[in-house]
Amino acid sequence: MTDPIRYFPAPRRARFCSQCGSPVQHRVPEDDNRARDICDHCGAIHYQNPRMVVGTVPVWEGKILLCRRAIEPRYDTWTLPAGFMELGESTAQGAARETLEEAGARIELGQLYTIIDVPQVDQVHIFYLARALGPELDPGPESLEARYFALDEIPWPELSFRTVATTLERYREDQREGRFPTHHCTLPSHRTS
Ligand SMILES: [Zn+2]
Repeated sequence: MTDPIRYFPAPRRARFCSQCGSPVQHRVPEDDNRARDICDHCGAIHYQNPRMVVGTVPVWEGKILLCRRAIEPRYDTWTLPAGFMELGESTAQGAARETLEEAGARIELGQLYTIIDVPQVDQVHIFYLARALGPELDPGPESLEARYFALDEIPWPELSFRTVATTLERYREDQREGRFPTHHCTLPSHRTS
């Protein structure tokens, strides 16, 4: 079995100022209402804000594309192609980029489909519908495998994240109804994403 790729994302709380290298203090700045990492040496305030995860629900002949993760967390579980939005791109560009990187799928992006707030991990997950332009796939290093699943073949207990499961559940319901409105919800906090 391939070893999982592991990343070490720096913690949200900083210890040192990224501008001048001095230790930072965690306190409420003047005229603010919550604690921030503040550098008393150069004056920089290190604001932190939620991160966006962007992805797609790619469909080919009624089947949905899922990728088996080659990275932690949730190594060896199935996910829709998705990842962190990069600076300088739109949500749509990020979703298409992740789909290409993780699955090698050529797609035509469709409508905005789900927006799911995950406040317990300071993230917002956004999925677009997408039409695959062919069945060919070429999974990248973040995926062990990529393949299309019919709706009744989806490996529900082996899905990576609740936002993926929620999006697929909505899709299954909408498929029955024959209409695909945009859905918004907030994940309850009893488990992490
Ligand atoms: Zn500083």
